[in-house]
Amino acid sequence: MIKSYVTGFPRIGEQRELKRALEGFWSKKEGFDNDRLQTTAKTLRARHWAYQKDAGIELISSNDFSFYDLMLDTIFALGVIPTRFAKFSGQELYFAMARGADTAVAMEMTKWFNTNYHYIVPELNKDSKFTLNADKIIAEYKEAKENGVKTKINLIGPITFLALSKTTDDSCAFCHLDTVVTKYSELLEQISKLDDEVIVQFDEPIFVTDKDEKLAPKIVPVYEKLTSVANNVKIVFMTYFEHALKAVNEVVKTKIYGLGLDFVYGERNIEALETIKNSNVVLFAGVVNGRNIWKTNIDERVKFVKEIETKLGGKDFYVGSSCSLLHVPFTLKYEEKLNPEIKSWLSFAVEKLSEISIITALANGKELCEVGAKIYAENKASANSRANSSLIHDKAVQERVSKLTKFEREMSFEERIKVQHKALNYGILPTTTIGSFPQTVELRVLRQNFKKGEINEATYNDGIKKYIDECVKFQEDCGLDVLVHGEPERNDMVEYFGEQIKGYAFSQNGWVQSYGSRCVKPPLLFGDVSRPNPMTVEWISYAQSKTSKIMKGMLTGPVTILNWSFVRDDKPRAQIAKQLALCINDEIADLQDAGIKIIQVDEAAFKEGYPLRAENVGAYEKFSVDCFKLSVSSARPETQIHTHMCYSEFNDIIKTIEAMDADVISIETARSGNELLKIFKAVGYKQEVGPGIYDIHSPRIPSVEEQVEQIKALLEVLPKEQLWINPDCGLKTRKWEEVEPSLKNMVEAVKIARAL
Ligand code: GLN
Ligand code: ZN
Repeated sequence: MIKSYVTGFPRIGEQRELKRALEGFWSKKEGFDNDRLQTTAKTLRARHWAYQKDAGIELISSNDFSFYDLMLDTIFALGVIPTRFAKFSGQELYFAMARGADTAVAMEMTKWFNTNYHYIVPELNKDSKFTLNADKIIAEYKEAKENGVKTKINLIGPITFLALSKTTDDSCAFCHLDTVVTKYSELLEQISKLDDEVIVQFDEPIFVTDKDEKLAPKIVPVYEKLTSVANNVKIVFMTYFEHALKAVNEVVKTKIYGLGLDFVYGERNIEALETIKNSNVVLFAGVVNGRNIWKTNIDERVKFVKEIETKLGGKDFYVGSSCSLLHVPFTLKYEEKLNPEIKSWLSFAVEKLSEISIITALANGKELCEVGAKIYAENKASANSRANSSLIHDKAVQERVSKLTKFEREMSFEERIKVQHKALNYGILPTTTIGSFPQTVELRVLRQNFKKGEINEATYNDGIKKYIDECVKFQEDCGLDVLVHGEPERNDMVEYFGEQIKGYAFSQNGWVQSYGSRCVKPPLLFGDVSRPNPMTVEWISYAQSKTSKIMKGMLTGPVTILNWSFVRDDKPRAQIAKQLALCINDEIADLQDAGIKIIQVDEAAFKEGYPLRAENVGAYEKFSVDCFKLSVSSARPETQIHTHMCYSEFNDIIKTIEAMDADVISIETARSGNELLKIFKAVGYKQEVGPGIYDIHSPRIPSVEEQVEQIKALLEVLPKEQLWINPDCGLKTRKWEEVEPSLKNMVEAVKIARAL
């Protein structure tokens, strides 16, 4: 027999009800008290369990709900609270850790593996104390039961918890392993009293990364303890996002009941089936994509599930989502404006539930109910329509890609830069910014009103022009060398381009939780992409017409566009990337024909697209470097190409960045002083570099002296001929009152530094 499960379900609500309740509560809005927050949460939990139950899912989670984040919930449940929050307790403490309070800065947040979801990073030191508080976990189980659902309880596994923790002294997080396991044992003890039998899912995704080599030996001792707490508690060791082959070999040595493997993003997990077959462990096979939005090809998946069944020698197992459905939008129910054909290809969290049930039923050879049969029929029709739709398949685009002959620029960097210095005529330590300027309320309202059709195009254009005029004037007054137009027409750096690229669609309600109450709505790349018209030329040319200085064109790079979209799954990523690269390539050609001499191609998401396992890094690097180079290959030697990357560890990717062959790269560095730059020197990096010289994440205005010191520090590492001076990225998130004096000080500091 095959049974169905779901790894975890989104909690923000189909209309982002939790977001509204949280934000109302935080801002103490009239009528948004704690009661209302709790009632909203309870309603959502009940509704989410009902969705899963009604779809026929057999194993549903509790404790996948959170008011902010599940790692934070774990910190709270283990009572391991950083001392700066000592004076807080209860809910006030919980939100203070998440969001900061007057006297205590918020805890750090970082990306959850290779997703766009951010978790709160546990802070430990050698004196950390732990006290268990299981209230939420226990209460949620009971609540589900009152709602008629006997759940599995989701917990973050102890090894992953510690592996993702940081220490504020130089101790090692794992010195607390015994204590943490003891607390988890106490927790399991309490859980064991809840029912005759309870399933507990321990999420251990750290074992899909290369840390598995080092951490695998911990599995047996840790889980031997946990499985021995109570006979009626069955433990599932859950992994997702990649293969977990090393962990499998350890898990089968323990009394762990179940093992969750992702067969969508971890194809190699197939290799584990033989081991699982010969063990007592029950497989939880993630076969429905929990990270993408396309309808699952049910027939193909049933075939795959049957294959698993054969390989397991007929052993019972579970079939479910490849990871928590947290990473996909909630439901298609509210999509009224999407082209119906495109909509028929999609499946969000709620729709994926039925897919899991249907796959399970068909694999068991069972007959479908009436609703199931209808969904199954639509599923077959959709697979057909996707294979043939003229919305997707564009012969002209495919032909252009297949006939490509030029993949890179004509001259080498060494030759180009000489031509550029002559043409652009900039001196030592040229100054610039990363692109955006403060996004005022006025500006947001202007864009919204235009989108809603409340103002006409002429009024909108006047508003944007006025902003650009002011931006240009400010930068000239300031004395910056290379100017930008300020990006007033852009809501978001990917959405702006997606909206102008054929082959992209936008959902109305396709929100995905990013952190806390924040959600993002990634655009949908559904078909062959092309750029029917220039996307930025008009605004950049307008801005250039307002100044005799150089106006920098501003584009988002193909790798970033790809990493921040939901991308079609019916074509290899490298093909799609080439098509996107050509859209940017065309735009660069048009910009330089319009007289634009410097063009920045932002690759903000370049680093975060890196695969979880080293075995896949080479392929990603080749693909993304090729893609970037193709996109800028239309630039003439004298056109200077800049790129930009957000804060990241550059050490391991420096050679790749160099291979991208941009003439100048600006990087977000201020938070790390000149540490980050040392690698540029160490490898003899050739191209020009603009390290952010001040941190824009704080409203503080950096003084001239301070910035002079920072420039001096940079000059200790890189020669002045190679350096550009700019602030970190993100000026759009600041106020003009902060940006104006900071940039004036920056230009003053450069004057002093040049004279040194
Ligand atoms: N050009 C963009 C801006 O300045 C870059 C954004 C980013 O670095 N994430 O806003
Ligand atoms: Zn950035």
